Amino acid sequence: MTHSATSFSRAGLGDEIGTQLLTTDTDANPTEEAKWGECQQTSMALRLDGKQLAAQLEVRLQQQIQNGMASAGRSPGLAVLRIGDDPASAVYVRNKEKACARIGVESFGSHLPAHASQQEVLTAIRELNADERVDGILLQLPLPKGLDETPLLAEIDPNKDADGLHTLNLGRLLKGEQGPRSCTPAGVMVMLRDQGIDPAGKRAVVVGRSILVGQPMALMLQAANATVTVAHSRTKHLESITRQAEILVVAAGRPEMIGADHITPGCVVVDVGIHRRPEGGLCGDVRAEELEPVAAALSPVPGGVGPMTVTMLLVNTVVAWCRRHQVAMELSDLVV
Ligand code: NAP
Repeated sequence: MTHSATSFSRAGLGDEIGTQLLTTDTDANPTEEAKWGECQQTSMALRLDGKQLAAQLEVRLQQQIQNGMASAGRSPGLAVLRIGDDPASAVYVRNKEKACARIGVESFGSHLPAHASQQEVLTAIRELNADERVDGILLQLPLPKGLDETPLLAEIDPNKDADGLHTLNLGRLLKGEQGPRSCTPAGVMVMLRDQGIDPAGKRAVVVGRSILVGQPMALMLQAANATVTVAHSRTKHLESITRQAEILVVAAGRPEMIGADHITPGCVVVDVGIHRRPEGGLCGDVRAEELEPVAAALSPVPGGVGPMTVTMLLVNTVVAWCRRHQVAMELSDLVV
C-alpha cells in the first residue's frame, strides 16, 4: 500500500504519520486504506472500533475451535475464579462467560465467599491447575481485603495463565519469549495492527505504569520497534511529553484527563480508561470530543479497548488449548 504525504490533511504530525503509521505491507487490507481516506475527508479521527473487531475475531476463534475439535477431543475451557460479591466483578465475569458461550469455550466458573481464606483460594487454584478440562485460569481482581494477590497469581500454572499476569509470563514478555500476554495491552496491539498502524520507528507514549496495563503496553510497543516513553503520576510537564507522541496510550485511571492540549494533531490515541460518570454513562481517560477533530485515530469508550480485552482472554485460552493438543493454529497473527 502506498500513500503520498498529501493524502493526509492534518497539520503537525498528521502528514508525517499519516504516511508512516500505515504499514507498507502490500497485502494490507484495502478497506483499511478506505477508512483512513474517509477519516481525512471528514476531519474526524478514525474510530478504533474494538467492538466490531472483537466480533470479527470471535468468528475466527469459533472457527479455530471447530477445526481443532477432532484432534483435541474436547472444547477449550476457561475457569474464572471470583471471590466475594463485588458487583462490578460479577458483571465482568458474566460478560466473560457469555463470550465463552458464544464461541464454544466451556466456562468453569468458581465463586468463593468474601471471607474465603488465602489457603482456600490457593487450593481452588491448584484444583484448576490440575483440571484437564481447563486451559485458561483467570483470578478476577480486585480481591477482597485480607487476600494477598501476588502469591495467588503466582500459583496459577503459567501455561494456563489466561490473563498473562504471572511473573513468568511478564518475564517472557520482557525477554521476547512466547507466552500468554496481558489481555488489555495485547488487545491494543491487535487493534492497531488491524488498522495498519505500525508502531515501528514511531514515538509512543504510555501514560500509566501499572503491571496490568502500562508496563506490558510499553514492552509490547517497544517489541514492535516503537521508541517508548512511560509517564506516571510523578511525571512533570506531562503535556510536553504526550505532545511528542505519534501513538499515545492512556491508562491512568483519571477520567478525561487528556485533552487537545496534550497531543500533536495527527496522533493516534488509545484510551484504556473506563469510568462511570456521576450523571450516568461512561467515559475514558481522554476528552474524546476535544480529540476527535485533531487525532488521526481514537478508540472510543465504550466500544474500544474493553471488548478487545475480553477477546484476548479468549485468544489466550484457545491458543493454550491448541498448544496442549497440538492443534494446527490459525491464530498466529493474534499472538503478540
Ligand atoms: P492503576 O493501577 O490505578 O494505574 C494507573 C497508572 O496511572 C499509575 O501508574 C499511575 O502512576 C498513573 N497515573 C495516575 N494519575 C496520573 C496522572 N495524573 N498523570 C500521569 N499518570 C498518572 O490503573 P490500571 O489498572 O492501569 O488501569 C488504568 C485505567 O484503565 C483505569 O481506568 C481502568 O479502569 C482501565 N482499564 C480498562 C481496561 C479495559 O479493558 N478497558 C482494562 C484494565 C484497566 P503511579 O504509578 O505513579 O501511581
